[in-house]
Amino acid sequence: MVTAQNTPTYDVTITDRVVSFVVYCAPLDDAHNIPFANVFGNTDVAHRAVTDSASYLSTLPYVVIDADTEKVLFPVQAATGGTQTFPARVALENNALHDGKRWKHSLPAIHIPDETRRIALHIANDAYADHRNFKLFSWSVPDAAHSKVHIYEVRADVKSEFARLNTLGQVPADNSLVEKPNVQNQYFGFLDGDLWLRISHEFTTADIRRLCPPGTISRTRLTSAAASQSGVASGTPGGLGAPDEQLHVDWSVALAPIYAAGQDSRSMNAFSVIVSQLGITVHFAARAFANAINSSARTTIQQALSRTSPRAFAAVLRAAWRLHIDTLDLSSSWRPMLGSSLHKMGIGIDVTRFDDDAESIQVAIRNQGAQDRNQPFPSTVGGRKLGALYEELTHDTQVAATQVFTPWVHWVEPHDTHMHVTAAR
Ligand SMILES: [Zn+2]
Repeated sequence: MVTAQNTPTYDVTITDRVVSFVVYCAPLDDAHNIPFANVFGNTDVAHRAVTDSASYLSTLPYVVIDADTEKVLFPVQAATGGTQTFPARVALENNALHDGKRWKHSLPAIHIPDETRRIALHIANDAYADHRNFKLFSWSVPDAAHSKVHIYEVRADVKSEFARLNTLGQVPADNSLVEKPNVQNQYFGFLDGDLWLRISHEFTTADIRRLCPPGTISRTRLTSAAASQSGVASGTPGGLGAPDEQLHVDWSVALAPIYAAGQDSRSMNAFSVIVSQLGITVHFAARAFANAINSSARTTIQQALSRTSPRAFAAVLRAAWRLHIDTLDLSSSWRPMLGSSLHKMGIGIDVTRFDDDAESIQVAIRNQGAQDRNQPFPSTVGGRKLGALYEELTHDTQVAATQVFTPWVHWVEPHDTHMHVTAAR
């Protein structure tokens, strides 16, 4: 800034403002190492939210916007609707937050245009240009050269305890940032399960119609000969026998029982949903929604299900029907604060077992250990059936083909006990 003698005095404004965000993801929920888990007593497993894998956000899409004009400030190419993605996770060494293993993401510093007064984020499914609904952490950018914002991902019910243990001075109001005590130009906010609920896109019936239009599916009718072959025959187009059974499916109708389940319920108990159009029973395991429920004070099962892409359910059900599977067990769908970005985005579901009653094939999707990882599927009847399911899914255009993980083929950590299916965006 040019100054000269005898010029009038005026308020100094720093115009080149830079803001950087650091996100500290929810910790591994381990009662032995985390004081917070002891808030409810060491043995109260029901309250644990993050049970087997610490949260992280690698590849999660986001944009930074001018909160008043909604213009995208970052990434700069976002004029064409693009998003940025969270950088790779970094272990938070010697975690000073007193709560065990956490991953951390440091976003690149962003230059704030002079005319921008307030900024906000859109993250996860809400970052996409076609439905940016929720402004995360709308905040007036201070007149400081560099402001640093610390976002702590925490369970809703331990925010006060977290603030006390870390001498943060206060619990910020929902979806807001406050100044850190005793540090200049540093701010913090809490990303809890209640906020994740508001961020995450809720799939409507209109979304189901758009993403999963009605269509006809076909399969090889079971005969005694076909039955003994179906594990290998019906997986790929051009398998043995011509399709001879057809079914017209209106997916908004077929999936309706799933999206209606668990209204007003925060129960951890297992439950089943009958998808009558396809003759398939979907069994949700006990604690399948534990992370969604325990990271928030109010999330219901129905709200968690409605944040799960219909393409994920439709793809798995379509493959199951084609393979004459009657029962599917799922252990997870949308969950905001556990593991990778895929379930946070609502595009991942986990299949733990399936039954084909007509052929008396029951398969628990679980390997024997490390020696099975990235090996071919077992040559048993059940192994062939699982291989056929994998083939169906990886050839389905509504599935992200490179993101179907199993305890055998295409194993990545931690998939020893389920098949993870990622829906296409
Ligand atoms: Zn998964």
